[in-house]
Amino acid sequence: MIQPILPGATVGVLGSGQLGRMFAIAARRMGYRVHTFSPEADTPTGQVSDLEVMAPYDDLDAVRAFAKAVEVVTFEFENVPTETAAAAAEFAPVRPAGAVLHTTQHRIREKTFLTQAGLPTTPFRIVNSSDDLARAVSDLGCPAILKTADFGYDGKGQARISSPTDAEPAWESIGRVPAVLEAFIPFACEVSVVAARAADGQFVDYGVIENRHRNSILDISIAPAQVAPAVAAQAREIARAVLETLDVIGVLCVEFFVQPDGSLLINELAPRPHNSGHLTFDASVTSQFEQQLRAVCGLPLGSTDLLRPAAMANLLGDLWTTGEPDWRAACAHRDVKLHLYGKLAPRPGRKMGHLTALAADTASALESVLLARAALAGSGWHPPDSP
Ligand code: AMP
Repeated sequence: MIQPILPGATVGVLGSGQLGRMFAIAARRMGYRVHTFSPEADTPTGQVSDLEVMAPYDDLDAVRAFAKAVEVVTFEFENVPTETAAAAAEFAPVRPAGAVLHTTQHRIREKTFLTQAGLPTTPFRIVNSSDDLARAVSDLGCPAILKTADFGYDGKGQARISSPTDAEPAWESIGRVPAVLEAFIPFACEVSVVAARAADGQFVDYGVIENRHRNSILDISIAPAQVAPAVAAQAREIARAVLETLDVIGVLCVEFFVQPDGSLLINELAPRPHNSGHLTFDASVTSQFEQQLRAVCGLPLGSTDLLRPAAMANLLGDLWTTGEPDWRAACAHRDVKLHLYGKLAPRPGRKMGHLTALAADTASALESVLLARAALAGSGWHPPDSP
């Protein structure tokens, strides 16, 4: 049993993006203070924190000073170097532990862990050279996807191999760095399970969420996913096994491919709240961010009950191409909630915010969130009673 860290205490977040922002909002709502650490200033998390520390992750003295000033350290970004987590752990508990980060921030280590744990993952081969890649392509066949071991997200550091002649250019395009080659999975759909685990072993999950991607970036999430009950039960069971085997204290998301026969393959793990769980902010009794706070502070976990079916649509920087989106038009959709992350530069592909719609059923929630997003890009909003 760990000593609970109670409201009034200060929690530290490594990383400063939107996940940290929503965590900080949840923490401050419950009376905690929040410090954030990243190499940038005026960040999504920093804007809503009590203190924003700006220093590189490899400035270990700055990391130690940061950890001394807080009662627990968590993170919103899994690419924090292992040494950073270790330096923080000299002065405050780091939850989830640095070992969880170490495994999940690197595709080779993550896939090796899953295979050794007997959990189903996309067939893969480790690639450290052109020869490895040629062998891997002949083993797995085409199409396949080459993914860098480090720093991959939202389809970055990936190259598709449609025929063996693509192999060498693909290896070149990712910079000839350690990688995995994955068989391309002709999935029926993609789903995720966001789950949380407390230090005493209490486990909760948010059920199964359906995810639709565009250009390898999450576009839409829908809860609950419309999958067979046996598929949902299996996904939740696998998520529990992942959190227990990794001894996670905190939140972790398991992303899956659902194959046409209903069998599941793990695509990847994220040891933190996940974009597919953003809808829990408005649609669940306890959001994934509050759940992270509860888990890392040693509080009992909250209910994950879904209040109403929900759909989330991401707002990427592309929306700004023709000027400022029409916020009033989106807000005219009464069951849709607008979230913006305070990012100053709307670059294409950059996650700037999201919309969540709540409705009586998932089809209506999806329709509503898509209409609201279309309205954002529309040609202007007119009050309902305007001539
Ligand atoms: P990732 O960054 O690895 O999660 O990949 C982003 C998205 O690309 C996934 O959510 C899928 O839509 C697609 N993708 C990645 N790997 C595969 C695969 N092995 N087979 C089919 N689609 C994939």
